[in-house]
Amino acid sequence: MLQTKSEDEPMVTKKKSKIPCLSLSSFLPALEAVTAAVTMPGGGGVPPGTPSAKPKEKQRTKVVVALYPFKAIESGDLSLEKGAEYEVIDDSQEHWWKVKDENGSVGYIPSNYVKEKETIGLQKYEWYVGEMSRQRAESVLKQEDKEGCFVVRNSSTKGMYTLSLYTKVNHPQTKHYHIKQNIRGEFYLSDKHCCSSIPELINYHKHNSGGLCCRLKATPCDRPAPPTAGLSHDKWEIDPGELVLLEELGAGQFGVVRRGRWRGRTDTAVKMMKEGTMSEDDFIDEAKVMTKLQHQNLVQLYGVCSKHRPIYIVTEYMRHGSLFNYLRRTAPDQLGPAVLLDMCIQVCKGMAYLERHNYIHRDLAARNCLVGDENVVKVADFGLARYVLDDQYTSSGGTKFPIKWAPPEVLNYTRFSSKSDVWAFGVLMWEVFTCGKVPYGRMKNSEVVEMVQRGQVLEKPKGCLNEIYNVMKACWRHAPEERPSFRLLKEELAGVAQSVLAD
Ligand code: ADP
Repeated sequence: MLQTKSEDEPMVTKKKSKIPCLSLSSFLPALEAVTAAVTMPGGGGVPPGTPSAKPKEKQRTKVVVALYPFKAIESGDLSLEKGAEYEVIDDSQEHWWKVKDENGSVGYIPSNYVKEKETIGLQKYEWYVGEMSRQRAESVLKQEDKEGCFVVRNSSTKGMYTLSLYTKVNHPQTKHYHIKQNIRGEFYLSDKHCCSSIPELINYHKHNSGGLCCRLKATPCDRPAPPTAGLSHDKWEIDPGELVLLEELGAGQFGVVRRGRWRGRTDTAVKMMKEGTMSEDDFIDEAKVMTKLQHQNLVQLYGVCSKHRPIYIVTEYMRHGSLFNYLRRTAPDQLGPAVLLDMCIQVCKGMAYLERHNYIHRDLAARNCLVGDENVVKVADFGLARYVLDDQYTSSGGTKFPIKWAPPEVLNYTRFSSKSDVWAFGVLMWEVFTCGKVPYGRMKNSEVVEMVQRGQVLEKPKGCLNEIYNVMKACWRHAPEERPSFRLLKEELAGVAQSVLAD
């Protein structure tokens, strides 16, 4: 494992840090409040005066640094300034923490916008993008189209880092360099120039190409901030008066989907639920839980407008629409095997998160995944199938039932599980590697059911690597318990990406 030595890394430039420092005294009142809460009767702490009470342990103050700016508009929220430090007062809720800024103002902030100062490591640098595949790095840099534009990302080998660098010399291309480490623990790209930390190495190559195709000159402009779990803390009911409805994005099973702007600043997709298509009260209860599901490969549910009819489901907006349409309209040569595999890996990561939270999708397919900026693919509509009232959709004999994505136990006994999602994921991989073909072509549903019962599976897509087809086949094992979990599939697919396609 490489150590990034984040604690004692020298600053990249000699300029004074813009990060405002918080003095200990500004933290003290909050510290006292925390200590008081712990010792209050009924607060779960030791009542004062108890003979066996041990001396109080000093509370550790948790300080976080903002990775993205955040603008508070709801009362009780606090704005974040990128790079500034905040003291955490209450992190008992997973997604919204109460923090204090350097002026003593207190409020809620989205926890995915900050990182603990002690463990921030490389994340404080503009050029570090963490988990980003080679394909996505290429797409981000190509979009920027600047000579010497670069990012540092986690390599597919755990604990290693890769520099992705864009150059226009000869023809526009992105080069990828592994950051290596010698036996003295120094980092290097070319073994003539070793540095004691990665930021130092980056700084060196900003001034000297030293074996690279060009010097490191720029980083991609402000990258989009991730969506928050709900539009504010404890908020899942959205006032429709605060939503401006814009163009139609598409229409589906439940009705029309339009782009919306919330309070003039947050892009959203608004699904207007046709009346009578879903059991609304049950769904509204569930929506509270669903806003709390948060992952970079899940379309974020922001909330619902449930006080009028039709009800609206408000989610994160995904610029390129459904994965199915994206595959169909994009030229196959633009989507080489590496890009296609990366799309599957992203869906698999979102599904592994749902699996970890014991959440079953029930209708996973390319049409229910969406594509956003930077080739990001996210899973949408998870769990919605449970609230559909239409028998044609919910019963396996119905005309709208997704038979072609269903395993034998769903066809026979409507037995859904994460392993039935795994089967559907295999079909989704097939859709991806055929660039949006319809599984089982024009076969009738009854013929598909027969074929699946007989143990026959979809054929290998043209040009698909055996290693990738083997993963699909593992998803289509007859017995659910013999299919791999999403957690395992994620590792499997990462292994394929590493061994068959370059990192
Ligand atoms: P339904 O669930 O009612 O069948 P869909 O979720 O499939 O509807 O949405 C219909 C279409 O609307 C999609 O194919 C897609 O083009 C568009 N759409 C849906 N959600 C979004 C979103 N979050 N961002 C952008 N486009 C979306």
